[in-house]
Amino acid sequence: MATVPCALCGHPVNPESLGVYQRTRGWVQKRSGGGGHSVALPEREPEWAHSGCVDRASRGWLTQTELFGGKP
Ligand SMILES: [Zn+2]
Repeated sequence: MATVPCALCGHPVNPESLGVYQRTRGWVQKRSGGGGHSVALPEREPEWAHSGCVDRASRGWLTQTELFGGKP
């Protein structure tokens, strides 16, 4: 399969390579304490990203949340 542009950095990513992330839409149950992130009824979207890009993005988001004093 041909490579597609990474949804986060725009560089080519192979959707079949190990560790690649695919964007998924689904349902997450609200729980007390905010624990648990299992997705029910996931629908796969035609978007992929490098694992490194997703890791950086999630760390960046966490840092930003902390900087603004946000508490989930
Ligand atoms: Zn990327």
